[in-house]
Amino acid sequence: MIIDFRSDTVTQPTMAMRQVMFEAPVGDDVYGEDPSVFALEQYLIGLTGMEAALYCPSGTQSNLVGLMAHCERGDEYIVGQNAHTYCWEGGGAAVLGSIQPQPIEVESDGSLDLARIEAVIKPINDHHPRSRLLCLENTNQGRVLPLKYLAEAKMLCEERGLALHMDGARVFNAVAALNCTLKDITGSLDSISICLSKGLGAPIGSVFCGSEAVVKKARRWRKVLGGGMRQVGIMAAAGLYALEHHAKELIQDHDNARHFAQALADIKGIRVWSQATNMVSVSFPDNYPDFVDKMRLKGFILPALRLPLNRARFVLHRDISRAAVSDFILEAKAFWGIL
Ligand SMILES: *Cc1c(COP(=O)(O)O)cnc(C)c1O
Repeated sequence: MIIDFRSDTVTQPTMAMRQVMFEAPVGDDVYGEDPSVFALEQYLIGLTGMEAALYCPSGTQSNLVGLMAHCERGDEYIVGQNAHTYCWEGGGAAVLGSIQPQPIEVESDGSLDLARIEAVIKPINDHHPRSRLLCLENTNQGRVLPLKYLAEAKMLCEERGLALHMDGARVFNAVAALNCTLKDITGSLDSISICLSKGLGAPIGSVFCGSEAVVKKARRWRKVLGGGMRQVGIMAAAGLYALEHHAKELIQDHDNARHFAQALADIKGIRVWSQATNMVSVSFPDNYPDFVDKMRLKGFILPALRLPLNRARFVLHRDISRAAVSDFILEAKAFWGIL
């Protein structure tokens, strides 16, 4: 079995999940007639306490339909400099939505400083793009946004007439880490995008949730973007299964990440910079590429070093057991000359 530390997107659907997919009742979801998509959307309506939900093929699209539902041509959204919607989605908001991003620096805890947000909100004036939306990412590189911060951000947005969207690709990791409910988080939001295909372990799919009005607009944009899907309940059933069975297990990934970080930090020459939920940031001696090659032969796939800091981001997930972490640590100690 291959142990892949690159991302929590690499998980394989379990046999139980495949069985649920096999048996899923389906219909044409563009007609609103797929019972399995309906069940998934209703489940998340229940967990978020929001009015409506919309199943999308990817998190990129789920965020984009949200941005396009909140903002019009010439509007802007305020977003973190490292945010997925800004850096990792091909500039879709600008390319396809004519929405200008207003990026700001991200604080060391993954939040956006409220004073910095206020400082970039433009006065209403024909010269300026219209500041319309704040987009927060939770978790951000594994870092969990505190509930108190979210409530303060919501207050600011209300005062200044902004909507608040969360890129909650890994929001269930935040729920697990805070030992709270999803509603504790979504209570401060106007909309959220949730990925089913990260640590939750479904093969594809994300869900956009918000008010009836916002989801109605998002549904239209999903069709325009080519995301209207037909008998897609086969996939939605896997998503619902992941929510029902895997969400509560995410805490194990966090425990494994902590154990992994502590054990790796003991190895001379290796520096562990941070561990947050299921992510661990590590720098290595110069011969890291040799280590990667060696480990590949032993069945471990390791992340590449990322510029500008030359650190590797290891991501723990449900297909990496504690035993696999221990095996990896033994191999690492052997390679770096501790044993
Ligand atoms: C993965 C991810 C997304 C969505 O990515 P897709 O690959 O399009 O599903 C959005 N935001 C964050 C923070 C992510 O990690």
